[in-house]
Amino acid sequence: MMGRQEAAQAPLFYAFNLDTHVPSNHLLRGIDRFLDLSELHQHLAPHYSNTGRPSIDPALLIRMLVVGYCFGIRSERQLCGEVHLNLAYRWFCRLDLEDKVPDHSTFSKNRHGRFRDNDTLRFVFEKVLARCLEEGLVGGEGFAVDASVVRADASRQRGVPGSEVAFDRTASLAWPVREYLEALDAAEEPETPPKNVSLTDPAARWTAAPGGPAFFAYSTNYLIDVKAGVIVDVEATPALRSDEVNSTRTMMDRVEQRFDQKPKRLIGDTAYGTAEMLGWMVDEKAIEPHVPVWDKTERNDGTFSHSDFEWHDEGNEYRCPGGKALRHGWRKFTVPRTGITKENTIIYHASEHDCRACPLKARCCPNTPMRKIRRQVNESARDVARQVAKTPGYLRSRRQRKKVEVLFAHLKRILRLRRLRLRGLCGAHDEFLMAATAQNLRRMAMWLVPKGPEMGNPLPA
Ligand code: SF4
Repeated sequence: MMGRQEAAQAPLFYAFNLDTHVPSNHLLRGIDRFLDLSELHQHLAPHYSNTGRPSIDPALLIRMLVVGYCFGIRSERQLCGEVHLNLAYRWFCRLDLEDKVPDHSTFSKNRHGRFRDNDTLRFVFEKVLARCLEEGLVGGEGFAVDASVVRADASRQRGVPGSEVAFDRTASLAWPVREYLEALDAAEEPETPPKNVSLTDPAARWTAAPGGPAFFAYSTNYLIDVKAGVIVDVEATPALRSDEVNSTRTMMDRVEQRFDQKPKRLIGDTAYGTAEMLGWMVDEKAIEPHVPVWDKTERNDGTFSHSDFEWHDEGNEYRCPGGKALRHGWRKFTVPRTGITKENTIIYHASEHDCRACPLKARCCPNTPMRKIRRQVNESARDVARQVAKTPGYLRSRRQRKKVEVLFAHLKRILRLRRLRLRGLCGAHDEFLMAATAQNLRRMAMWLVPKGPEMGNPLPA
């Protein structure tokens, strides 16, 4: 028999407990177990007045942001609507059925004001990371580093050639422009103007993407522990290779300072295999570089490459395939010269006399009177990296490096962070920190919460 819904009078009172309506296997229940904001009020106390109307609880704003980043709700206006309607989100934010959800403009005020002044989002990120350490998800033996480009909230049409850009400093400027100009003023050396500068967000870099038109972008740099793929640090930089590589030092030093974590090996791709970077890893930090060496010295025209010349440390010289010496200083100077060039190299050359009479000259230096080899100042560190690359551990590291790429794919596909909503380097910093916090929280919830027989993620992963 077909049933019909009774249109009876609704009861006057309801007995409703929000907690019972959130499934035991909901992702937010797992996240809630690992998010501890008990010290947040103390952290933010200097930024609140002791008098006046009480503000919206900052812990509520952080919880709402966690919901937004965990479930890829990118718009603050939409986030407020979702928290208003979704029972699980309300439960996680400690809001009762009748509690008012903060207005979306409150986020802007706090994000650009108190939270930024106090680096609150980094505080939250570090609290979550401390919990990951407590739970044993960070091994501390191997770290991997990589960067991924994320589109800035800046239109291509608002770009002008770098040589032509001139901001009127006397006019009222938007804060991303002010922030950019302040950074330029604070820089020790004036930088060469980039090819294209955005008038909306000048700190973003004009970046060519393979197979598509160029766009303005920032890079998110992740330093992860390879045991469970926990993000141990994150840094926002303009989408520029040199900035990305340099951010590794900032992140490594910060993790060592704050958490006393220094890995035995660091895994990265060829971008991190420059002589300077390898020198820093090997000589300064005593870390094993599991990084391919950035080497442009190999020749493919049939003549001898750099690798055909053997280095003799004791004699400070190379030996060529003909058995002759290539030295940096054939002449003796009263005041010894380092001979270090602007590119941080030392030039070693054979004697013209040897080369002239050599039967191998056509395969060695057919167009010059003698052969020259440029040796990087950090060549010994490059040699260490070359030796590491021959070990079985290096092959394992190559596979483990994929864990960072998986996190970037997750960031863009699941957390939907393909384009930033906040502008300026600070905006990118805030967004990347929150996204990394959400990824670490999700990781703990997925890995550490026991799954019962009825378990299964009811939400899209
Ligand atoms: S040409 Fe000069 S450097 Fe090259 S193999 Fe002969 S002696 Fe050695």
